[in-house]
Amino acid sequence: MINFNKPPYTGNEDKYIKESLTSGKISGDGPFTLKCHKWFDSKLLNSKSLLTPNCTQALEMAAILIGIEPGDEVIMPSYTFVSTANAFVIRGAKIKFVDIRKDTMNINEKLIEQAITDKTKVIVPVHYAGVSCEMDTIMSIAEKHNLFVIEDAAQGMMSTYKGKQLGTIGHFGTFSFHETKNYTSGGEGGLLIINDETFIKRAEIIREKGTNRSQFFRGMVDKYSWVDLGSSYLPSDIQAAYLYGQLEMADDILNNRLNAWDYYYEGLKNLESIQIPKIPEGCSHNGHMFYVKVRDIKERDFFIESLKQKGIMAVFHYIPLHSSLAGKKFSEFNGTDVHTTFESERLVRLPLFYGITVREQELVVSAIKSFFNEN
Ligand SMILES: *Cc1c(COP(=O)(O)O)cnc(C)c1O
Repeated sequence: MINFNKPPYTGNEDKYIKESLTSGKISGDGPFTLKCHKWFDSKLLNSKSLLTPNCTQALEMAAILIGIEPGDEVIMPSYTFVSTANAFVIRGAKIKFVDIRKDTMNINEKLIEQAITDKTKVIVPVHYAGVSCEMDTIMSIAEKHNLFVIEDAAQGMMSTYKGKQLGTIGHFGTFSFHETKNYTSGGEGGLLIINDETFIKRAEIIREKGTNRSQFFRGMVDKYSWVDLGSSYLPSDIQAAYLYGQLEMADDILNNRLNAWDYYYEGLKNLESIQIPKIPEGCSHNGHMFYVKVRDIKERDFFIESLKQKGIMAVFHYIPLHSSLAGKKFSEFNGTDVHTTFESERLVRLPLFYGITVREQELVVSAIKSFFNEN
């Protein structure tokens, strides 16, 4: 059987976990968290990084930091994971969805401006499949209307837009280290990137239960106490130890996934029955995902079932948020849903993970060719 995903494991993770276990400090912001922060600080230049237990909570922190209040409006695509919306909904915001671009499945930057009202506070572009949104346009719209930009770069670690790492372009960036992402911190994990330094001090407080404990540990205050609202957004240092093993191998994981991505691309590019991803000029991606688009939802279900019979696990996602039960309550689709629903119903993700073999990929490609009777 060919799994859809395998959690990445490169070989040093258990060594570091053992080291963490014997360090005498396995709670948050221990030695491995600091090592990870250092790694991100050098990779994501000029940004402040804070590990979180997952990307959902990194988004929640960003929503608190920009002061989302009941009635505020947030602009994002409907074609995304539920957390992109929920992080703002739990602060009382209303979500305004904008249609996506057919080529990248990312928010259509040309439709953002017409969704802006005097209640709009933030634009949340989602870099689907680790392929960047059109950030120059989005940043200039945000500047013009005095809005924040929080990049949901959950899938975008190591991808770039015009040479800049994803997550470092907006005011904030958020990443996921869930086991389905390119890098994991032992199953669950996340990262908040702060690109506007005026938010750093408060971010550390919110992350530490509303206390100034981080300043205390740096010797800046002589005791710590409750100074602001907050929650607990620190991952265990054991999570960071797993992640550190992956960060040391970051380029190896990246190249492995890009090779796998290229293999599918070459193997499938001449098929007439399907469409495959396109990477816009100026964007470098991270091989997070390879998808194909078939004719429609009926063919999709038939296609997935036929691969399954050959032991190949392919999956679809997402059901657009505006058509879900909670979406109807907390959100509104701005303008017409031309592409979001239709394109989401045709998309199928192929197995792709660190360590997938050429033999496995060969089987996937030939199963697809035989499904469509193409060679
Ligand atoms: C995976 C993902 C998330 C959530 O990440 P968690 O770490 O599981 O909280 C959010 N947004 C997008 C686009 C994702 O792909």
